[in-house]
Amino acid sequence: MLVKGLSKRSVLIGVLLSILILRRCYDRYWDPNLIITFFDVGQGDSALIQFPFGKTMLIDGGGGWGKLSVGERVLIPELLRLGVLRLDHVVLSHPDSDHAFGLLEILQKMEVGQVWLSSYFQKPPRPRILQDIEHISKSRKIKINHLINPYQLQINGVSTLLTPLGIDAHSKNDRALLLGIEFSKCRALFTGDIEQGGELEMVTRSSKKVHLLKVPHHGSLTSSTRQFLKAFSPRWAVVSVGFKNSYRHPRKEILHRYRLMGINLLRTDFHGAVRLTLSPEGKVSCETYLGDCGVSRCD
Ligand SMILES: [Zn+2]
Repeated sequence: MLVKGLSKRSVLIGVLLSILILRRCYDRYWDPNLIITFFDVGQGDSALIQFPFGKTMLIDGGGGWGKLSVGERVLIPELLRLGVLRLDHVVLSHPDSDHAFGLLEILQKMEVGQVWLSSYFQKPPRPRILQDIEHISKSRKIKINHLINPYQLQINGVSTLLTPLGIDAHSKNDRALLLGIEFSKCRALFTGDIEQGGELEMVTRSSKKVHLLKVPHHGSLTSSTRQFLKAFSPRWAVVSVGFKNSYRHPRKEILHRYRLMGINLLRTDFHGAVRLTLSPEGKVSCETYLGDCGVSRCD
């Protein structure tokens, strides 16, 4: 007997969608590639890393529109569409609402393995959203890690380094948890909203060239210094911004700087979601909501 109110057609659609999601979920456990997706979350940041053979990590969860959460409206449907039913790791770059608000729904509604935070977030004033994240995680028995020193994970052949910055930071944006990943010959760097101070700290710690850069602080005038871009010398960069946002991010001076340095810049307000697929042989395939954006190699 059918559930009251549901037609045969809607039950059939539900079954077909479930089969599709489970099929995608199954396929991920056989996929040797590393896939990085920058979601189109308006003004904010959220990216998914799908490691080879099925492990997953979400970095930031975007913000919201008033009381509407990006987590509920964008991320959970997109994750299901990709066949991601579990997030093994959730990383918060810093507790600003355009990065953290959407995580509340994710932590409440999805299966999550561990949450990674920086100990420097605890510096006063301690934001309310951080307390909410910790409260939900504890109530759902999700392990929380507070990092005070860099921490390296090896996830299915991918070297993953979490670096808490900002012991002397004056800007709260520079009290950040950054993520660097290395797979085959490819490196990617996720920078949260760091500004000049954080960029300088990064350059003094390491200046290994990266293939892909998450543009710091949505392309603001206070970030993407020449010294930082020269040190890391990315080939691709992705800036996550809202269409016609009130901050005027990314700033035209910064766009000009990326162009002058020959860095391919993709922006979520124009291209929509951006996905880079990295093969074990070092091939990088780029696609956006608008279509293919090229192929390159990590050398
Ligand atoms: Zn931000």
